[in-house]
Amino acid sequence: MKPAVHTAEYVFVCWGDLKSEEYMSSVMTDDMDKIKMKTNKTDILALLRNSEDYVSGQQICDRFGVTRTAVWKVINQLKEEGYRIESVSSKGYRLAEEPGDILSASEISSRLTTEWAGRKLYYYDVTGSTNNDAKRCGEEGDPHGTVVVADIQNAGKGRRGRGWQTLSGTALSFTILLRPEFSPDKASMVTLVMALSVAEAVEEAAAGAENAVITIKWPNDIVLNKKKICGMLTEMTMTPEMDEIQYLVAGAGINVNTASPEEFQEEIRNTATSIRIETGRQINRAGLLEKTLLRFEKNYKTFLETLDMSGLREAYQTYLQGIGGQVRVLDPAGEYTGISRGINDRGELLVEKEDGEIVQVYAGEVSVRGLYGYV
Ligand code: ATP
Repeated sequence: MKPAVHTAEYVFVCWGDLKSEEYMSSVMTDDMDKIKMKTNKTDILALLRNSEDYVSGQQICDRFGVTRTAVWKVINQLKEEGYRIESVSSKGYRLAEEPGDILSASEISSRLTTEWAGRKLYYYDVTGSTNNDAKRCGEEGDPHGTVVVADIQNAGKGRRGRGWQTLSGTALSFTILLRPEFSPDKASMVTLVMALSVAEAVEEAAAGAENAVITIKWPNDIVLNKKKICGMLTEMTMTPEMDEIQYLVAGAGINVNTASPEEFQEEIRNTATSIRIETGRQINRAGLLEKTLLRFEKNYKTFLETLDMSGLREAYQTYLQGIGGQVRVLDPAGEYTGISRGINDRGELLVEKEDGEIVQVYAGEVSVRGLYGYV
């Protein structure tokens, strides 16, 4: 199976009806053991997390059909990873404290309560670009909703061939694979659907933090207190006949727990920030991913009902930066300024020029700036 070349062990996790026999019989025994271990770990972690009281070793054995030794091994692994698990001989195990931030296959899948987003999950410690990985998944037949997550991307991609910097151990980089049935001209809106989902998830994660203002810089940059915390890239692959979408990948890179601006490379230091820098909070990245995917499932469903932004426009515009303010449109065909009038149902930005003409700006090749700065 996949993926091709990675600098770290990869973990494949699937559960529910996706644990196909075809897949299981296609992997080698060593991998099988690893996968089984990961699956047990995910299940046991989820069980401990969702139990208020102690869970006995025997209960765990019975529930997952594993031996006492297997339970003991998993509990020890979890402890090593930073979970504080209390063991009391007459009672069993209890998850006393979660680690502040941990990104691993088990941590992510033990949290996910989505219907389809992330039901098949690939987690990498290090990869090039999660978008490229997800495209490979697209080629190799992985299902709609497959998610690729990485702790480190060393060749993260932005729009128009630009790069995305990923700071190790503090960023959340993920891509979702979609197999939509709609026509290719609708695809650009998926990036707005993802932008709304990330903005809502970040807002939830930062809830109660003083002075944290989350906005979307059209079409899909997430901005916290006027600096960028998240960039996105949506890529589409067509069928050989070029008339239908074969698959689409929507990726996001989020600066989550970067501790100080100095950690960013100099060229983005003035425009980039992280959730932690702005709120003072350490955020659990797996939790943030879970929130984002839940929101995405909901928003994508709304989008599919009309195949446009009409059902999401209001929510999107509550985050949209600078409605009614001056914007500068960096169009390769020529820069111009105007007043932002929000988006239309196709997700295009409406910009009113000085002469009153309203331009409908299509996302593809264009960046938008505030008149005097990044937003
Ligand atoms: P923009 O309006 O910010 O230029 P864009 O949508 O055209 O946005 P993206 O593809 O989202 O650009 O992101 C690529 C750009 O984002 C890079 O050229 C760089 O300026 C900036 N960037 C790269 N890494 C980060 C990061 N970790 N945090 C914030 N900004 C970054």
